[in-house]
Amino acid sequence: MEKKHFNIIISSLSSAEKVPAEVWHSLLTLNGDEREKLARMAREVAVANFGKGVYVRALVEISSCCRNNCFYCGLRAANRNAVRYRLTKEEIVECCEEAARLGFNTFVLQGGEDYVQNDEWLADVVRTIKERYPSKAVTLSVGERSDSGFALLRSAGADRYLLRHETACVKHYSQLHPATMSAANRKRCLHVLKELGYQVGSGFMVGSPGQGIDELVEDLMFLDALKPAMIGIGPFIPANGTPFAEEKAGDVDMVLLLISLLRLRFPKALIPATTALATLCENGTERGILAGANVVMPNITPRRYAENYTIYNNKKYIDSESARLLDVLEERLNAIDRFIDYGRGDYVI
Ligand code: SAH
Repeated sequence: MEKKHFNIIISSLSSAEKVPAEVWHSLLTLNGDEREKLARMAREVAVANFGKGVYVRALVEISSCCRNNCFYCGLRAANRNAVRYRLTKEEIVECCEEAARLGFNTFVLQGGEDYVQNDEWLADVVRTIKERYPSKAVTLSVGERSDSGFALLRSAGADRYLLRHETACVKHYSQLHPATMSAANRKRCLHVLKELGYQVGSGFMVGSPGQGIDELVEDLMFLDALKPAMIGIGPFIPANGTPFAEEKAGDVDMVLLLISLLRLRFPKALIPATTALATLCENGTERGILAGANVVMPNITPRRYAENYTIYNNKKYIDSESARLLDVLEERLNAIDRFIDYGRGDYVI
């Protein structure tokens, strides 16, 4: 691409106008040198907005039980080989206590859509955590709920909600999910969450079966309209016991390019270097941050449970005693001239 053309395209990312589909298309097909340039710009934007600090969130995987049957996810209800567990309220609170001792200021509770961990039960857990740690943030990532369920959890004190839209394209959504689920409902949930005053996170898998450039363009345009506080993207990774077990994993370079594009388009968004990225490539965390990400979500689920939270194969789990977990991360960040920022890391417009 001509230099002048490249500059025009890049400048449209910081425009107040919606970015047109053709521009996203050109951005997604940049060559290696152009991508490198883009990554440099993206990390400069991240540092300009957040400094060299990287926010950390303590991830607690509260249940491997799920009523849904997403074609990509190893925890789908039909996977007879998945080992099911659910943490008790006491275990979740203990995880938060441990996280607080380590210095975390955000707890992320993630799990399948578990009948037993229903809205009332979860609201009670959130209330207990917020009574004990009123100044810390609680993020939920427990799938689609009713409007009243989302409202109850919000009134219990939940601050943020992560619900990836997975794919904005209706046809593609139906290639990834059974007919009982719909792109429309997923999007509706995101709007409800926003109205309820949650800081909302969305995102998608990169390289899921059936995804091409056109689907990615739709994802980017959807995010442009939603303006989420947090955006999580990671490569698709095949999971045993799913219809996609034999499919190939997503492309790491495409994930990195998308992180850079998202950073340039959403300078203030909280964008994690995800576990899926770290699972697929050595130094995935560092590479994600150097492409513009500014959040890491260390897993503090007790090991005996975490090894059964198999949303995809070979999920990376930093094998270190929890007390050392953040030291290991700090060393790795220091090696790329970054450090852990222990702040809450709220979305600030
Ligand atoms: N039940 C919750 C949490 C799902 S797990 C929910 O529905 O939101 C969090 C994310 O992991 C999902 O949103 C999905 O994007 C991602 N994920 C699931 N299976 C995956 C796979 N096989 N490869 C990569 N990412 C996957």
